[in-house]
Amino acid sequence: MRRYDQKVEVAVVGAGPAGSVAAEAAARLGARAVLIERKREIGTPVQCGGFLPEVSELEALLPHAQIPETLAGIPERYILARTRVQRIYSPSGDAKEFSVRGRVVDRRSFDRHLAWRAARAGAEVLVDTRADLSGGSLRLSGGRSGTVEAQVIIGADGPSSATARGANLAKRQEAGVCLEYEMAGVDIDPEAAEMYFGTKAAPGGYAWIIPLGEDVANVGVGTRPAYIQGRRLRDILDSFVADHRIAKEKLSGGEVTAVMRGVVPAGGMPPAIRRENVLLAGDAAGMVMATSGGGIPLAMVGGAIAGEVAARAISGEESLADYPGRIATAMGQELQNSVRIREVVDRMMRSDRLMDGLFSMLPADQMKATMRGQIPRALEMVQEMMDRR
Ligand SMILES: Cc1cc2nc3c(=O)[nH]c(=O)nc-3n(C[C@H](O)[C@H](O)[C@H](O)COP(=O)(O)OP(=O)(O)OC[C@H]3O[C@@H](n4cnc5c(N)ncnc54)[C@H](O)[C@@H]3O)c2cc1C
Repeated sequence: MRRYDQKVEVAVVGAGPAGSVAAEAAARLGARAVLIERKREIGTPVQCGGFLPEVSELEALLPHAQIPETLAGIPERYILARTRVQRIYSPSGDAKEFSVRGRVVDRRSFDRHLAWRAARAGAEVLVDTRADLSGGSLRLSGGRSGTVEAQVIIGADGPSSATARGANLAKRQEAGVCLEYEMAGVDIDPEAAEMYFGTKAAPGGYAWIIPLGEDVANVGVGTRPAYIQGRRLRDILDSFVADHRIAKEKLSGGEVTAVMRGVVPAGGMPPAIRRENVLLAGDAAGMVMATSGGGIPLAMVGGAIAGEVAARAISGEESLADYPGRIATAMGQELQNSVRIREVVDRMMRSDRLMDGLFSMLPADQMKATMRGQIPRALEMVQEMMDRR
């Protein structure tokens, strides 16, 4: 085991989208940065559907955020498919769709590409190395042992962030558990990202079909433990593939070529995302839209801000205390709205009849606003109705 005992300016834990973008931003501004990843191979195994809205959609989703160039200008070679619409199925099988121009990235190579960018910008990269925050420094284990002393530590280590725990910033929160198959030989609409709701298909969440090009798709289910009542996630997904009235026509001839699972925060940001010299970004900071589980764009926006604030704090141009405010401006309202919407929808999720009712009440454009974390009047009416029950 090689030793690594270093003093650096910025240490970033986790080389997912948040961490690599943070390390690149810090290094570009001249900070001595190190990016530490426990996986042997960045990006593998994948735990993601890879769906990302196009830039124009992102600008509408996060109107107050600056979309980093890394997110706006994703090279074509990492894009497996482009979608034109989002189609939503109610529990009884009715469909509504609205236009959402999206890109589906190959997360294995996309995450590597982001880490390469960080390396090119001057960040040091340690793979196969776990970092644990203890007593203000990072203890390394795995492929390297040793200690990293950093002026700023960015915890971008995902939904079960050890950095958040080490800095006493973790909060117990609502989380979705997801299982996803990559399937080949399916008969899908290659231009549509689809979501399926219903107590059987996806109790407390939704099932999805995301095209990866031609006849290949990511097919998954995200749900929450309180809703599945002892059912196994694998049984829920298998039943969606084999038995769902609409999905089975598209999927039952397919073969599973990869299995992915993971956790998605669904409760928004914790009360604090910074303590002393520790900043949290991405899933580690709950930066995920609770309405869709989409976290890649927010992780990259959050990571860029974290890296920039860290480097500027070191050069004395900004204070670390500015970080929560910068994040709140970029995505605070949208994240809060998405949690509020999730809470309203949660109250209906146990009943297919109520979900069908909500589905028929919301026109497609209001459904799109809801998914984006904007609260349309129709949803406010639903909330009032539920409050009166
Ligand atoms: C099944 C599934 C499907 C999804 N589909 C989509 C989708 O289609 N679109 C979308 O926008 N979002 C999707 N998401 C959410 C998305 O994957 C996350 O929001 C996104 O990856 C967050 O990026 P991140 O950099 O914050 O964290 P991560 O991508 O989780 O990266 C964290 C990194 O930190 C590393 N790490 C953890 N602990 C340590 C440690 N102690 N030391 C060193 N390294 C450590 C991990 O190995 C990992 O590489 C999905 C999630 C799941 C589970």
